[in-house]
Amino acid sequence: MENIKNKGIGTISIHGGNRKNEFGCLTTPIYQTSTFIFDSAEQGGRRFALEEEGYIYTRLSNPTVDIAEKKLALLENGEAALGTASGMGAITATFWTFLKAGDHIITDTTLYGCAFSFLNTGISRFGIEVSFIDTSDLEAVKKAIKSNTKIIYLETPSNPNLKIVDIESICNIAKNYKDIKVIIDNTFASPYCQKPLDLGADIIIHSATKYLNGHGDLIAGFVVGKKEDIDQIRFVGIKDMTGAVLAPGEASLIIRGLKTFEIRMEKHCKSALKVAKFLGNHPKIKKVYYPGLEYHKGYEIVKKQMLDFGGTLAFELKNGFEAGKTLLNTVNLCTLAVSLGSPETLIEHPASMTHSPYTKKELEAAGLDEGLVRLSVGLENVEDIIEDLETALKNC
Ligand SMILES: *Cc1c(COP(=O)(O)O)cnc(C)c1O
Repeated sequence: MENIKNKGIGTISIHGGNRKNEFGCLTTPIYQTSTFIFDSAEQGGRRFALEEEGYIYTRLSNPTVDIAEKKLALLENGEAALGTASGMGAITATFWTFLKAGDHIITDTTLYGCAFSFLNTGISRFGIEVSFIDTSDLEAVKKAIKSNTKIIYLETPSNPNLKIVDIESICNIAKNYKDIKVIIDNTFASPYCQKPLDLGADIIIHSATKYLNGHGDLIAGFVVGKKEDIDQIRFVGIKDMTGAVLAPGEASLIIRGLKTFEIRMEKHCKSALKVAKFLGNHPKIKKVYYPGLEYHKGYEIVKKQMLDFGGTLAFELKNGFEAGKTLLNTVNLCTLAVSLGSPETLIEHPASMTHSPYTKKELEAAGLDEGLVRLSVGLENVEDIIEDLETALKNC
């Protein structure tokens, strides 16, 4: 399609990156192949030397995966994208590509549990130094920068407590240092709500397991950014260092899931705002964390950098986590499971589940309440979600 870049999100998600195929199939075929036939020995050599375009081996690229990648690049306004086996595959492949022993990373105290684990106890074993700070404090960011700082990595809104960081201001600080890349995990917002590359970020990470695929039936990830960076991650971080490649069958499901990306996100956001307001007014609830609430910390930044507020929220109960446990065990429509961005409303307890890599002390340092409950508002009718919570809260 011509001028696809200027089209709306729905149009891009459905048509972006699509190509004609041999039999005129409406939908993208699954090119279920590990390897690709060369016409001649010379051609094989040229492809390996990157002198000629074309496929070689599915760990490097594959036509079905390619189309999913093109959609992601268009949705995030990036030059290129790379599909990965998981969100963690996207994170690790990116870090292994750009870092060496002696380098320094600045990141936030609040991160997705396994990303925290990777930075806190994984990569730090290889001579890479990591500073965990509050990146919403811009002075703290400036102070944390050293001559060997290579990456500033953060989530906004963060998992699990929806902490907001000013992306543009962080990028403006980093611009003064030519070696520093700002990498944003945009999983919670999705490109429907926020486009960090437009705000100056260098690289975007996604867990496509969540809103991008949107059906809770696979694990996948993406990295989006400048072509030069994405090529490097593809040929170092994925090809040689992790092998965390996106499979063509999973890419096909993502392509299918993306067709409803815009309408799903519209509903996730609309319903989450309603649920957040309901919980905010409920006598059993102490505090609600949702970027769409005017009293959410960073709401001024939210208005500046987010187009909508996303489908996930968190809250604390007045009677602490014992009451939270009762809630988790009493809900009926809301499903007790980790993950987010699926059609089903999912409820979980970060401190004992997704964020269990954090010790008690680390939770405290990150300002994460032990009783925090995370809710991914699904696509059921919002009245039914609210009714389910209301009934279950009676016992809390
Ligand atoms: C789930 C999640 C990840 C990890 O993604 P996987 O696909 O489960 O590997 C990374 N970052 C955030 C913010 C997440 O929510």
